[in-house]
Amino acid sequence: MNDTRVDCCSDPSQKLLSVEQGRQRILDAVPVISDHEQLHLRAALNRVLAEQVISAVDVPPFANSAMDGYAIRYQDCRDTAPCTLTVAGESFAGRPFAGQLEVGQCLRIMTGAVVPDSADTVLMQEHVECVGEQIRFDPARVKKGQHVRHAGEDTRAGHPVLEPGKRLGPAELGLLASVGVGEIRVHRKLRVAFFSTGDELTPIGTPLQPGQIYDSNRYALHGLLHNAGVEYHDLGVIPDQRDAVRDAFRQAGAMADLVLTSGGVSVGEADFVTETLEELGEINFWRMAMKPGKPLAFGRLGEAMFFGLPGNPVSAMVTFYQFVLPAIRRMSGEQARDPLLFEARCGNALKKAPGRTEFQRGILQRAADGSWQVSTTGLQGSHVLSSMSLANCFILLAADSSGAAEGENVLVQPFRDF
Ligand code: AMP
Ligand code: MG
Repeated sequence: MNDTRVDCCSDPSQKLLSVEQGRQRILDAVPVISDHEQLHLRAALNRVLAEQVISAVDVPPFANSAMDGYAIRYQDCRDTAPCTLTVAGESFAGRPFAGQLEVGQCLRIMTGAVVPDSADTVLMQEHVECVGEQIRFDPARVKKGQHVRHAGEDTRAGHPVLEPGKRLGPAELGLLASVGVGEIRVHRKLRVAFFSTGDELTPIGTPLQPGQIYDSNRYALHGLLHNAGVEYHDLGVIPDQRDAVRDAFRQAGAMADLVLTSGGVSVGEADFVTETLEELGEINFWRMAMKPGKPLAFGRLGEAMFFGLPGNPVSAMVTFYQFVLPAIRRMSGEQARDPLLFEARCGNALKKAPGRTEFQRGILQRAADGSWQVSTTGLQGSHVLSSMSLANCFILLAADSSGAAEGENVLVQPFRDF
């Protein structure tokens, strides 16, 4: 990993790394887990596909009706209205018509029912008048082949349905079931171990003593990692002591593919994270040109990859979204995808000093005129965790920007449903 080492901290004049550069270096460095497992379809929800799936069947397997109505032979449509045909039978979903349509005949048909070879067109029930055993309709309204869904229109036998690297959501489970696949090979879940560092951190349930705060990062990480679909182990709070930090690193490195810590990556006196990583593994300490989340330690601990997240709760979450989540996806075998970014009109002025890309917290919503509008959550300090709860998106302000005026367009990056 030495080739990616950027020791920009020892030389303050050295350029900061941009978020994109940092993300790319991380993605280039992390391995994809190569262990796979065979799972039943339901158990594979949210897992990453490790094989290409070829369909053994056509979907739909046969030509069928898209409407409730009547199947006809288009050639029986006369120019003069109305056209009259005789109902010769019926085709219901799962109960096909056994016979053949003869000249002048039609078939009562339901949605999803087989359209026999002897028919080629379906009339909507609403466009037909029934008179005893006969139907009457206006042939001018009929187009050849209308309302017929052809065999293999969705998926063709012998063709790929899904590619490796696809994360299996509800649509993919349905799609796999539609081609009759009941078991599937997926990447095993990524194993993540994490702990917080800091003498001031107190577990919830214990009254705070002077100078203490509750540890919130492990709870935010619990949520982030749960939603990322990984297996994870919370190793608790580790005090700012060299030996304790070293023991925690050894334990975490032995059990996980990815180790995350929070706190202790600044250059403070009691910050043992980087120092311990240097001793037990390999570390790149990067100054990222971003706010919040400037210090980021990234490296390797034995076989495991390592991220030392900043201690400030907002910085830890922003860093997670921008760097850890893409790394988790890559390591889990998922195909690369770019973050969703789009423009929205700023509902209020945003303050910023030029220099670093900012990830301000925003509330994105549709304005009365139908356009997307984003407004600030208020105080933007990296300790203001309530801003992450109020927000549904980051407002990305480029490094050279000096803020935005009300009404100006800015880039937004949603991080949850809104
Ligand atoms: P550090 O990165 O350890 O210097 O911590 C930076 C700031 O984040 C300090 O104000 C810490 O008290 C705070 N902090 C560190 N870890 C946590 C945590 N797990 N939960 C809440 N705040 C934290
Ligand atoms: Mg600390």
